[in-house]
Amino acid sequence: MAIAIYPGSFDPITNGHIDIVRRAKKLFSKLYISIVANPNKNSLFTAEERVAITKAALAEAGINGLEVVSYEGLLIDCAKEHGADAIVRGLRANSDFEYEFQMALTNRDLAPEFESVFFMTAKKLSFLSSSIVKEVCKYGGDVSTFVPKSVETALREKLHTQQ
Ligand code: ADP
Repeated sequence: MAIAIYPGSFDPITNGHIDIVRRAKKLFSKLYISIVANPNKNSLFTAEERVAITKAALAEAGINGLEVVSYEGLLIDCAKEHGADAIVRGLRANSDFEYEFQMALTNRDLAPEFESVFFMTAKKLSFLSSSIVKEVCKYGGDVSTFVPKSVETALREKLHTQQ
């Protein structure tokens, strides 16, 4: 079975990401979550915090045997470093498609040896994004159905220190 990396900002990890992880894990002999340290977006959490939060969330969800790493620079270099065969991404809506399509084709140009593999979102998680969770939490809304408890705690602490 092949090795895969699941890259993203994970700022923070949500139940949507966790659903993809659970499903991808069944198809690959090894799965890495690769947290991009230099996202285009301004992230709420540092790369180190996102790694720690992701590890805690996976442990809370009872998911073992996965490695959480962070990387800077090109995704394909991270894939090479970990001996990956595939790049896992999730698709929620049309709006994701455009970006994912562009990224997958660019990565194929840069490194044709990696196959991009897409997992369709679960229906009930299709609206869920890290940005929405941060927005809801910032204004005091309940995010307990969107993220594991440990993530909710980390969010509240972070947003509290920012106020
Ligand atoms: P990025 O900034 O690289 O898009 P994200 O952490 O936002 O990083 O997302 C990482 C990947 O997980 C992306 O492919 C995204 O489409 C996917 N993803 C995020 N949330 C969900 C969800 N609720 N259902 C399915 N896929 C998702």
